[in-house]
Amino acid sequence: MLKRLSILITIFCVCFHFLQTPDTNKYNTSNKKIFKYTIVDIVDNKSIQDFLADSINFNPPYRGPVIKLKFAPLHPRIGGLTTQVTDRVYFIQINSLYPLFSARRILFHELVHVFQFEKEWLKELPGGVVLWKGNYYTWGVPWSQRPWEIQAEEWTEELFKIESDK
Ligand SMILES: [Zn+2]
Repeated sequence: MLKRLSILITIFCVCFHFLQTPDTNKYNTSNKKIFKYTIVDIVDNKSIQDFLADSINFNPPYRGPVIKLKFAPLHPRIGGLTTQVTDRVYFIQINSLYPLFSARRILFHELVHVFQFEKEWLKELPGGVVLWKGNYYTWGVPWSQRPWEIQAEEWTEELFKIESDK
């Protein structure tokens, strides 16, 4: 299972230094622990690999989406952020303020959003409108009440396992 890094999906790993320039480092204050791991370390988790293989890449000759991963100086309360850049191209930003197991869980949650976009269950529309399974929402709906977040958390809770198959 080790290194069964997705066959069809292309994950471009752009690994930046954790200790960035002072102006982008404002959340890494001296009393906070700095975790050192790479994007490759995050992806190296059996449940993530299984989800990519079984749910996102499907079976050959289906061609999986392109997912780009990058560490980003997100607000401390935001663990990750998935953006549909264009059709079948996604950009996932991961907050590096958390320990590795948390980063893996965050990535799993974000991959559920990729799945939702791929299924066209989730669509971002202009004007801050979100279409979820035919129903319109706005970003004004609290995070915990957004059905796409509820599903992402339920699936992550059920399918994500901390243990890496190393
Ligand atoms: Zn989410």
